Amino acid sequence: MYTREKYEKDLQFIEKIEHLKSNRIEFIAYFFVLASCLAAHILYMILFAKAGVKNMVIFNIFSVSFYIISLFLIGKAKNKLNVAYAALAEIIIHASVATACVGWIPDFGMFLLMIIPIAFLMPNKNKKAPFVVMFVSILLYGALKYLYRDTSFTVYNIDNTAYATVFYIINIFIGSFVLVYSTTIYTFMNRYTESMLRVQNEQLKIMASVDPLTKLSNRRAMSKSLTEICENSRNTGRHYVIGIGDIDNFKNVNDTYGHDFGDCVLSTVADVIADTLPQNGCAARWGGEEFLFVIPDEVLENGLALSDRIIRSISEHRFTKGETAFFVTMTIGICEGAPEDIIDKVISHADKRLYKGKRNGKNHTEYTD
Ligand code: GH3
Ligand code: MG
Ligand code: MG
Repeated sequence: MYTREKYEKDLQFIEKIEHLKSNRIEFIAYFFVLASCLAAHILYMILFAKAGVKNMVIFNIFSVSFYIISLFLIGKAKNKLNVAYAALAEIIIHASVATACVGWIPDFGMFLLMIIPIAFLMPNKNKKAPFVVMFVSILLYGALKYLYRDTSFTVYNIDNTAYATVFYIINIFIGSFVLVYSTTIYTFMNRYTESMLRVQNEQLKIMASVDPLTKLSNRRAMSKSLTEICENSRNTGRHYVIGIGDIDNFKNVNDTYGHDFGDCVLSTVADVIADTLPQNGCAARWGGEEFLFVIPDEVLENGLALSDRIIRSISEHRFTKGETAFFVTMTIGICEGAPEDIIDKVISHADKRLYKGKRNGKNHTEYTD
């Protein structure tokens, strides 16, 4: 059940994320990853230099330059995703070349697998891109695993040096960090999308059940409520009262003061009805200038008192347009529903009484046949 509290919670969460988004969070998220990659490659460059792996020192000079340029570009780039794809390509190439140079013990090859979920977690606009990354990565992983299964095939052999362990620890750390980072962002973005959908769905439901002019329930939503009230009455054995009110001589209001002002009158009359009803009662715009209200757990006598109160409040409301002031009245037909009654019969009964009321001088509640 999607409760009011859950709706409020979703709204708060959306607001928080939108606030973060407006604070250039996208830029910060990309910048942080690229800066981390830059730091990692500076570290690799130093370690490869110390371990005497010259090829990888040269490669890392290119990598460091690439990330410095990326950091400059990311602020200006319209499509930040392209920079992210370029970084993915750099990671794949670096992992492959490093494995060819120093073998599997330092495990640069793990990045070829770690990169796959990241490619799918990215906000891909091109749906094929993560599949290409996956295909290339798996292919390279398999080929390198086979080609460099023995250190005698690698360019350098650092297997029995402390550097192999240091590289392995750094790689595990960087790889897991990037995975945790991207899954966290993805989880938040997913929650944001879900909250957004729930809120939009709720707003659509409200729009579909509320009359935009009077803000009362529309006929469709009221029919649903009436069915529920009828079922409740059957379960509890309690009676209920239905009233249908129609503004008297409303055509004159439209003709004299204009259709727009007629709308204002309708909206005010709706407010009066809603304000007069008890907490458990509900009202709807049943037709053009016709309103239906229902009071559960109530008998005709009390329904009559309430209906009279509505009529009095409406007739006492002073409408003004420019210099002129005028009043409107309403006629209401009410009917009591018993647990065994069919709801449509009770409604049409109230409707008949309304038209009897119209014939009998308007501006009162009609409660007899
Ligand atoms: P009575 O009910 O007392 O018999 O007279 P009436 O003049 O109210 O009669 P009727 O029900 O025939 O007229 C209702 C009028 O309400 C006609 C229609 O133009 C007007 N109306 C219906 N819906 C709207 C609306 O949304 N806005 C405005 N301004 N007028 C509306
Ligand atoms: Mg009318
Ligand atoms: Mg009418």
